Amino acid sequence: QRLNNNFQFVEVGRQDPKKKAISTRKKQFVEIYEPFRQAQVNDQAHRCLACGNPYCEWKCPVHNYIPNWLKLASEGNILEAVELSHQTNTLPEVCGRVCPQDRLCEGSCTLNDGFGAVTIGNVEKYITDTAFAMGWKPDMSNVVPTGKRVAIIGAGPAGLGAADILVRNGVTPVVFDKYPEIGGLLTFGIPEFKLEKTVMSNRRKVFEEMGVEFRLETEVGKDVDFQSIIDEFDAVFLGMGTYNYMKGGFPGEDLPGVYDALDFLISNVNRNLGFEKDAADFISMKGKQVVVLGGGDTAMDCNRTSIRQGATRVSCAYRRDEANMPGSKREVTNAREEGVKFLFNRQPIAIVGEDKVEGVKVVTTEMGEPDENGRRRPQVVEGSEEILPADAVLVAFGFRPSPAPWFKDFGIELNSWDGVIAPETQEFKHQTTNPKIFAGGDMVRGSDLVVTAIFEGRQAAEGILDYLDV
Ligand code: FAD
Ligand code: SF4
Repeated sequence: QRLNNNFQFVEVGRQDPKKKAISTRKKQFVEIYEPFRQAQVNDQAHRCLACGNPYCEWKCPVHNYIPNWLKLASEGNILEAVELSHQTNTLPEVCGRVCPQDRLCEGSCTLNDGFGAVTIGNVEKYITDTAFAMGWKPDMSNVVPTGKRVAIIGAGPAGLGAADILVRNGVTPVVFDKYPEIGGLLTFGIPEFKLEKTVMSNRRKVFEEMGVEFRLETEVGKDVDFQSIIDEFDAVFLGMGTYNYMKGGFPGEDLPGVYDALDFLISNVNRNLGFEKDAADFISMKGKQVVVLGGGDTAMDCNRTSIRQGATRVSCAYRRDEANMPGSKREVTNAREEGVKFLFNRQPIAIVGEDKVEGVKVVTTEMGEPDENGRRRPQVVEGSEEILPADAVLVAFGFRPSPAPWFKDFGIELNSWDGVIAPETQEFKHQTTNPKIFAGGDMVRGSDLVVTAIFEGRQAAEGILDYLDV
């Protein structure tokens, strides 16, 4: 017997979608979650309390109208739900898959108070996937062309967020990217078991039908110079990401068998998507004892890709404890289920080996006082050195900004850590020190999240519309 519907959250617990069998997950590069069915969406979305002033909306970086589209979805009103979710988000089907919801919308759900948060991310994904399957497309019939054209450098989430707002306001975006597919790290970074690549190729078709032009395999500064872009377009948006690898600064990092995380992940995507130009570029962990260094999302992706490639053992060494890991808790759980061994409180001090890597020398740490960001600092335990045997080491310490050498020729100034200066607080949001050029995403805020890059791209596009006075 069902209780009054308003108390659905008491009767029906939180349910995540089912995961595929571990034996399949360990081998295949496909998403691990089964899609929700409408009946599950009805049950799960209806658990929402429709709080008057919902924390989830405030915590969601794009400020999605979450309770409103949860209600529409629970009633099976998918076409209205998808329109509403696109009012605030450019890629809801992507965010539903890859946002660390436990730290964002779901982490602030009132039902965490003993009942389990509403499965917001999975409903968001369901709405867009289902709408696309029903043939839904963004309605562009009321858009009035302005005749203005804006160049966007980078087809990652920041660039796509900007393109979405511009094209819906009658400005033609022309998006340049050096890669052969759109998505930035969504395609050439995040692996298929979190985000299948057809999601982005479908989105490209949708964007093209909306009027966005893509010039792929075109590197600005190499295949086309920036001056010609500045001359041709009314404004420019830069969404070029951060691609300088952080190094550990310890001996042995250049030994054969030590790889940067993203080189490894991209080589795997290139092989799976048929973009590989030279078979020698493929980095394989098959039959190897792998040690992954780091504790963020990139490290988790390296762990789980190594498992799928057939590594004999995958260990992940991280210098803090589990509670202080920066990566999504969900991905740590998934990695553990797939057989990754976590070694917490282990700080690498050297990579050892004669002609190639043979192991990683680590020391044990204890958690000390919090640093300026509130995270507890690891402190080395005297005499705790040990060697972790390894045939391959994947270094996933994160990224620093990678400003292009031509920025200074165009008056694009950088801050003390090489991020492009383009604050939201400008008269024209996210304008750089060159008035015609705007910027957003990782290259402005440092390595962050898909959803924050989308938000900044959208905000910068608002700034561009104001600057163009359209
Ligand atoms: P990017 O996605 O890096 O896109 C920049 C684009 O600019 C690229 O396509 C690049 O080719 C292009 N470009 C650069 N220079 C030029 C040039 N000169 N000419 C032409 N094109 C150029 N975030 C999450 O929210 N959830 C996750 O699960 C998650 N997992 C991640 C896993 C990995 C392995 C990594 C590395 C990051 C992950 N992130 C995750 C972070 C997230 O992917 C980034 O924060 C986000 O993609 C940044 O978007 P962006 O548009 O600023 O840059
Ligand atoms: Fe949650 Fe991310 Fe969707 Fe916002 S965009 S509702 S944070 S999953």
